[in-house]
Amino acid sequence: MTITETLSKNRGELEVKLRNLLAKPVFLIEMDAFALPCGCKGATINTRGLQYDDLEIFEDHIVKYLKDTSENLEIEPSFLFARLVPGTAEIASLNSRVLCNRCYMDFARGSGKKPRPDIYILNFIRRE
Ligand SMILES: [Zn+2]
Repeated sequence: MTITETLSKNRGELEVKLRNLLAKPVFLIEMDAFALPCGCKGATINTRGLQYDDLEIFEDHIVKYLKDTSENLEIEPSFLFARLVPGTAEIASLNSRVLCNRCYMDFARGSGKKPRPDIYILNFIRRE
């Protein structure tokens, strides 16, 4: 499969799983693979209809789904997080990111699930 076919397939499958889990229309309006100048790389899944409460209540399931999706995209699921629309309880995106060393240090220094107001950490594996 090409990278776009893999993205397309996983976008659809994750959307179905989230709709079944939450029993409401959740839209994954775009799934992108990215690479940043700093060396970070990963995938961003832009969402509509997903709320902060959904994450808190169904965190275990959502983390598992996101891990599976990330692995299907061959992205190590070491850092999974949600980004919120600032000042709201609306989730803007779900993200899997393989951190570069510098960004890793920035996040490793922070503590808790919400190092920044717009970030909710779902999974963060510390390096040795
Ligand atoms: Zn980085």
